[in-house]
Amino acid sequence: MVGLLGRVGAVVALLGSLVAGRPAQQVVEYGGVGAVVPGRGETVGVEALTADGRARGLTVRVGRDGRVSYEAETEASAPGRTSAAGRAEGAEPGASPARAACADTAYSTAGHKEYGTYLWHVGDGPMPGGLTRDAARKVFEESIGTITAERNDCGLAGTGGPQARYLSATDREAGIDRAGRCSTRDGVSVWDAGELPQDVVAVTCSWAVTMPDGGPNDLIEADVRFNTRHHRFTDTPGERCSDAYDVRAVGTHEAGHVFGLGHVGTGHENLTMYTNSYTCSTRARTLGRGDVLGLRALYR
Ligand SMILES: [Zn+2]
Repeated sequence: MVGLLGRVGAVVALLGSLVAGRPAQQVVEYGGVGAVVPGRGETVGVEALTADGRARGLTVRVGRDGRVSYEAETEASAPGRTSAAGRAEGAEPGASPARAACADTAYSTAGHKEYGTYLWHVGDGPMPGGLTRDAARKVFEESIGTITAERNDCGLAGTGGPQARYLSATDREAGIDRAGRCSTRDGVSVWDAGELPQDVVAVTCSWAVTMPDGGPNDLIEADVRFNTRHHRFTDTPGERCSDAYDVRAVGTHEAGHVFGLGHVGTGHENLTMYTNSYTCSTRARTLGRGDVLGLRALYR
């Protein structure tokens, strides 16, 4: 049983009864994340940004025949995990094995993309970094804009891929519970803050419809939640910053998930889609080469 958020409870129950052929509230859980099994022909993906850089993600698919399958992301399976050869090429002995952001071509895709325009809302609760709702909206909008414009440090031109538009504030909440599980989707894409598991900084849940031609699944909703219960955030990580995550860095990483990017693993710490964005660090605010290549693979 998933802990539903009060305000959307009625809507969720209604959707549950409208979707024929599956038991309501069937939950798949793996390695500290989870998701309510979506409707036929749909997928749901949950991606967690962790405080220790350990990959955590899960995708649940329901075929048109109602068959449920899932794929869990583990550190060993993260596609960006550095091979021994990559490590030898990229680093001095004893130095960090991470390649520079513009020299690192690693990326992974999560199986969905936004074919039209991502329409999104800001929730009405407290925002990360103590931002007002208007200020948070601006920060989220810029984070999303970094993905849609492919803003990067590497001189790479954007390819004019995905589109996004902010719609309004809403009293709906992100469909993500305090155990880091995606609830049943409510058709409203919401960015907000709340409680998530302690070692998780933020979570994105993305719902999509499977494509008959086998192409990337068609995004229908994506919700983002920042864990303000267990972590501190700031929009101005200067010299005095201590132990707080940069809202824009985290927001840009989560926006990457919204538009279909997956995680890259150890050895790729300088890319936006690495599993940890580090306290007081702004490096994930702009994209590295692998992040851009991932977007090009999806949108060009
Ligand atoms: Zn992530």
